[in-house]
Amino acid sequence: MDYPGNIIVVSAPSGAGKSSLVKALLELDSHVRPSVSHTTRAPRGQEKHGREYYFVSPQEFDAMVQAQAFVEWANVHGNRYGTSKKAIEERIAQGGDVVLEIDFQGAMQIRQAFAQAVLIFILPPSWEELRARLERRGEDAPEIIEMRLKNAAQEMAQAHKFDYVIINELFERALFDLKTIVHAQRLKYAAQLRARAETFQALHII
Ligand code: GDP
Ligand code: ADP
Ligand code: 5GP
Repeated sequence: MDYPGNIIVVSAPSGAGKSSLVKALLELDSHVRPSVSHTTRAPRGQEKHGREYYFVSPQEFDAMVQAQAFVEWANVHGNRYGTSKKAIEERIAQGGDVVLEIDFQGAMQIRQAFAQAVLIFILPPSWEELRARLERRGEDAPEIIEMRLKNAAQEMAQAHKFDYVIINELFERALFDLKTIVHAQRLKYAAQLRARAETFQALHII
């Protein structure tokens, strides 16, 4: 499928800073909207249904899988997460950009469904720092943190399948890198042709 809007996929091991970076990008760039996923995990602290996620029961999730409502879904850290068609297709069909914060299994499915999707992997600067961030965030129980760290090794081994890698050491630097990638998507020939058709016409290129 080919749509005018950009699909930006951001993956990272838990704690690398993916949510913080995407949140900051969304605050800076009103052309980018988040894709709100469905999940079977329970809401954390301040999370609100329809904002961070649509929180659904395993039965509701099954029904959506049956109805082919997802463009991708995966089992992550013992819960299921999925991107619904509705979460992205309308927006990119209208030429808007959408950012997906999803795990690497989902990222690979998105690449299959949308060849133009750009895949970005966020790495922490070190194992020590990854553990420290998970502990500092204070959202997960110690045994959950251990599981997330164990999964992180497998996830990071998938980084080579992504288009871009950002090492989130200094937050502001990593945010600049993320903005640069998003900006570059808008400078691609096809995107410029759509956005600046009059200029291309005036120059007799089209
Ligand atoms: P969440 O995105 O709701 O999960 O919240 P986080 O706890 O991940 O981040 C809270 C806020 O802190 C976000 O708005 C980030 O932009 C900001 N933030 C996180 N880490 C850093 C950092 O190292 N430097 C700076 N300048 N801001 C940060
Ligand atoms: P993820 O979404 O990848 O699980 P978060 O965005 O929740 O990760 O970040 C994990 C923790 O690390 C948060 O407490 C966040 O504030 C912190 N953090 C993110 N980026 C940095 C950074 N560059 N330096 C220090 N702490 C960071
Ligand atoms: P968390 O529970 O910390 O919010 O997210 C856990 C993991 O699930 C993260 O790696 C996140 O990227 C992934 N995730 C969130 N939404 C989706 C989704 O819609 N699809 C897939 N495949 N993974 C998701």
